[in-house]
Amino acid sequence: MRSSNILEQPIEYLKGVGPKKAELLKKELSIFTCGDLLLNFPFRYEDRTKFHKIGDLTEQSDMVQLRGTVRRMDMKGEGRKKRLVVRFRDDTGVMELIWFQGATWIEKKLELGVEYLVYGRINSFNGKMSIPHPEIEPITEAGVKEASTFTPVYSSTEILNKRGVDVKVRRKLIKTLFEKIQAVDIPENLPPYIIEKLNLPARNEAIVHIHFPKAKKDLERAQKRLKFEELFFLQLRLLKLRRHRKDTIKGIPFTKIGDHFLGFYNNKLPFELTGAQKRVLKEIRQDLGSGAQLNRLLQGDVGSGKTIVGLMCMLMALDNGCQACLMAPTEILAQQHYQGISEYVEGMDITVGFLSGSIKGKKRQAILDELKLGNIHILIGTHALIEDWVEFKNLGIAITDEQHRFGVKQRAKLWRKNKPCPPHVLVMTATPIPRTLAMTLYGDLEISVIDELPPGRKEIETVHRMESHRLRVFGFMKEQIALGRQIYIVYPLIEESETLDLQSLMEGYVSVEREFPKPEYQISIVHGKMKPADKDFEMQRFVKGETQIMVATTVIEVGVNVPNASVMIIENTERFGLSQLHQLRGRVGRGADQSYCILISGYKLSKESRERIQTMVRTNNGFEIAEADLKLRGPGNIEGTQQSGILNFRIADLAKDQRILQVAREIAARILDQDPTLSKPINARLKNYMETQGKRFKAWSKIS
Ligand code: ADP
Ligand code: MG
Repeated sequence: MRSSNILEQPIEYLKGVGPKKAELLKKELSIFTCGDLLLNFPFRYEDRTKFHKIGDLTEQSDMVQLRGTVRRMDMKGEGRKKRLVVRFRDDTGVMELIWFQGATWIEKKLELGVEYLVYGRINSFNGKMSIPHPEIEPITEAGVKEASTFTPVYSSTEILNKRGVDVKVRRKLIKTLFEKIQAVDIPENLPPYIIEKLNLPARNEAIVHIHFPKAKKDLERAQKRLKFEELFFLQLRLLKLRRHRKDTIKGIPFTKIGDHFLGFYNNKLPFELTGAQKRVLKEIRQDLGSGAQLNRLLQGDVGSGKTIVGLMCMLMALDNGCQACLMAPTEILAQQHYQGISEYVEGMDITVGFLSGSIKGKKRQAILDELKLGNIHILIGTHALIEDWVEFKNLGIAITDEQHRFGVKQRAKLWRKNKPCPPHVLVMTATPIPRTLAMTLYGDLEISVIDELPPGRKEIETVHRMESHRLRVFGFMKEQIALGRQIYIVYPLIEESETLDLQSLMEGYVSVEREFPKPEYQISIVHGKMKPADKDFEMQRFVKGETQIMVATTVIEVGVNVPNASVMIIENTERFGLSQLHQLRGRVGRGADQSYCILISGYKLSKESRERIQTMVRTNNGFEIAEADLKLRGPGNIEGTQQSGILNFRIADLAKDQRILQVAREIAARILDQDPTLSKPINARLKNYMETQGKRFKAWSKIS
């Protein structure tokens, strides 16, 4: 078979590649075969359909394409400052093209009087415009024709550029490849009924146009088609996985609603559940009773009351003779859950255990023994819970409270904690994540959303203040303390510069202490370098209301619950990510009082920091903030998602392609409803493509 062979050929066999370039392409871009090269799409295009006139250029001009002749060439400067200055002219004016690198070579290449095509970015200095290092080529008829299109720009790396595999070489390689392949080499992978329904171009046509777009319309159609294809097959895979699991894996049926659940609900629950909490509990109960395994993502904004929902699910497990566990991403959060849940179930004849990496020796052994005997009913802890040496007697449900931190792999480990049926798995997100991300990262799970906050919560008022206004902030703090409120002041903590951060924290502490002297004021301080016992002591003083101010690093980000704290002050706000800021803000606004969040920053802010701060000031809605975060940073940078690899799209962009994703998921679901195994002839292409292209997902699906 000719067709598959060409695209499966190692990249070094392509003319113009050779062993050295091949090595680079493999290492830098994971391009191993000609097929990989083909599917490495441009990430943007330069609009070369227009020619600019030198006379029309302004300082605002950006990328420009010119047509004209070289009038003069001068080598200027010495040594490192040596540069070639070319006076370039068209019928409207003259400007300079400048080369610092390769000046001698360019000088040799260029000829006076010959017509050239120039493409580059305008640089203006003191009102004088020039183009440093433009692309320049002599004009031939074919050259102009080719240039008058959208020119693809491929992602590259510094090493690739340095070693001569630059964008031009990439374009050339793709061209060489296309000279060798034919339409049949790029077989269609979507059935005609989808192509027709969505009015998509054929696959081979789309791939040609994505590399060599002739017109904007073709390019857009090609992009839509390839984005759809990518998202569609991912959804098909995720949904198939989910169906497969539902069909083949039995869950422990929780048929009984018994004393634990009802006792808690009737006698212990300190408040009325919100409508959203009730709805979500109902959704979960349906899964739990169905005989299938529950695999559900529970999303809800900070403070929406996920914990209580989690607890009630655990009580259902207990009612059905099973154990339950709750796993949190940090020791502090796990501790907090342990304390909170122990309090909730006090007097209910339920034993709650705690396990983390810091519990060692005899103490650990005792817990492990009791767990195995079934004497511990609810186990709460950190990652330590999923270690192999942790054995349950019979684990009915595992709940994880995630900060997008548990990888799929770790989640999978939970599965093996009970035999023969795996435990039910409920994943709670600490902060909301955008729908598109949820559908992808957790696309194989059912999703429940708590979209309502408990009643009586007041919107937290958020303001942005400059460092120079700190005195006014201190004044405000004093007013609040006089009203009996408590205050957090948070400093950033980034691992790489822990010493520096500690320093800024300590300096901050000293200045706060000066402003708020003892004995009138009491201050707690908590940071990651402290011994757990000291940390706990300081934390407790604040919780009990013995201190009015808590100066801390982000260790308090999750977990801490002090309803009387009504002011959150964040220092160096520009150094925090959006979801982190939102988490921090969520520490206040938990009581009946009006709460405030004061974001302090320097004057100099990047555009992105400014937008982050503005977003925080504008809205309290975690879902909205998550969407903004996705747009600002792109899906690849959302915390904890990198390692999953599932977001390394060729062309799709979760921040922009929500609509396409939605359609792709709907169609994939409908197809699987009608043809779960994709064995109908009409779906033959789908099945075939899934089988041949499966490599990328094999590892992933095994562990999810
Ligand atoms: P998160 O969803 O961020 O984990 P929590 O579960 O920590 O939120 O709940 C935040 C606070 O709201 C807790 O103090 C909890 O007791 C309280 N809470 C939860 N549900 C309700 C409710 N239905 N009515 C009133 N308060 C509630
Ligand atoms: Mg929580």
